[in-house]
Amino acid sequence: MPLPLIPVLLLELLYAVACVTVGTRPGASLWLRWPTLTWERMVHGPAPKPRPNYARIAYLEQELGLVDPEPVRKSSGLGISAAEAQANLAANLNRIFGPERAVRADKVCLVKGCDGPTTEIRNWDGVLRRRLHQH
Ligand SMILES: [Zn+2]
Repeated sequence: MPLPLIPVLLLELLYAVACVTVGTRPGASLWLRWPTLTWERMVHGPAPKPRPNYARIAYLEQELGLVDPEPVRKSSGLGISAAEAQANLAANLNRIFGPERAVRADKVCLVKGCDGPTTEIRNWDGVLRRRLHQH
């Protein structure tokens, strides 16, 4: 072994001892801590990613009004009556599709002086749902 390498090897040995002793303490500087971090990553793999807090996300979405409230559920334990089922169905349909809106009653045609036939389509409740117009 060449004689000039002995001080270099001694410095490397001192650095290794410092890394093992001081570098493992919390708050150690990175130049003493990096061998421990590298070793931990090699042995245990990368640190697990933090999982999203779905309960908190749902709570915040509800607080901000980004989600609709839970559908109406009424139950006596033995099933529900036809009226309750119809109310639940209406509530769920309103929740999914929005409130039922009728088409405007007045004639809508952008062609000036058009007098074409108009066919109205109504649902079973008599609400005007669509108007078909031909020019
Ligand atoms: Zn028209």
